[in-house]
Amino acid sequence: MIFTNARLIFPDGIRDALDVVVEHGKIAAIPERSLAHRKHEVIDLNGNYLAPGFIDVHVHGALDRDTMEASAEAFRAVCDFHASGGTTSLLLTTATAPVDAIIKVLEAVRDCRPMISAIAGVHVEGPFISKAKAGAQCTEFIQDPSPAAVRQLLEHADVLKRVTIAPELPEALEAIEAFRAGGISVSCGHSDAWDEDARAAFDRGMRSVTHTFNCMSSARPRGIYRVAGLLEFALSESDISCELIADGHHVSPTLMKMLYRAKGPRGICLVTDATAGAGLPEGSPFALFGKNCIVENGVCILADRSALAGSAARMIDLIRMMLHEVSVPLNEAIAMATENPARAIGLETKGRLIVGADADFVVLSPRLDVVQTFGGGELLWSH
Ligand SMILES: [Zn+2]
Repeated sequence: MIFTNARLIFPDGIRDALDVVVEHGKIAAIPERSLAHRKHEVIDLNGNYLAPGFIDVHVHGALDRDTMEASAEAFRAVCDFHASGGTTSLLLTTATAPVDAIIKVLEAVRDCRPMISAIAGVHVEGPFISKAKAGAQCTEFIQDPSPAAVRQLLEHADVLKRVTIAPELPEALEAIEAFRAGGISVSCGHSDAWDEDARAAFDRGMRSVTHTFNCMSSARPRGIYRVAGLLEFALSESDISCELIADGHHVSPTLMKMLYRAKGPRGICLVTDATAGAGLPEGSPFALFGKNCIVENGVCILADRSALAGSAARMIDLIRMMLHEVSVPLNEAIAMATENPARAIGLETKGRLIVGADADFVVLSPRLDVVQTFGGGELLWSH
């Protein structure tokens, strides 16, 4: 099959006059348009953009369904909703909960992954986090990363792709080493770390931070000195990739611009951190980690309005926000939703328009509406 008449978005720019040839679910060639073999089925994209499908490494839910339900129906609803925002791969993200409940999710994901192509694995966010930076997470289930708990999770290293951990907790550094040895991406977050805690985590292989600015320590006095927190450590260290919830609510435009100046186009991973409220009408109540929440002004908040409770956004919404509020070029914003997250979690065949990559695509109109989403060359969602 040949995707033709599209504007291809690469990390370094947009190119016209190229076709994308797909065979057996993978990109087989990207020839000049006139050279493409016409023996294939032709999909005319009418001058729209073609980009790699978006990769969201931090998704809890959508449409009143949550990863913690650990069921195929919930996973499918979440993946289908986010496909409408251009996402073709995502990490189903767990909440702070007893380890047994998290294991149930990991087992369910292993069972469902063959049927739901968008599931790239699981991001375990909590329970190894700071009570002081819990945000909307349930503090009663927060625990230290004991070797026993870490071992339990590592038994599921085939589906566990990313862990959020606060590096200042007892035994956190040993846990980070163990997760890295298991091939798992370690992201520091929900953390009250000092500069040196972050450095120690970095030395053990941490290369990401979770929802930068949100639930994260920043520079503060220690005695008479001013010392960096996790935020400044992440901004200053070029090898760290920074998750950003660019929904226009979690982080103000000035902070987003500051992050872009500090990290450049390769250092940011756009994440929705979408919860079960995503896709529900304004004013809808929903439950998150057992807490009552509501969708208000386009974002999810606790019903008592004491904290944000994840976003109601899709990936395309974040890309538009980066264009309009941060003045990032389209190709760079797309890279923040494709190649950068693929690199962060080691997805070698996704997030890129190159020969051999999976044929996961999003088709965008000139106004950046999602027209179609493809996974492995198959239509996942159509406008
Ligand atoms: Zn989250």
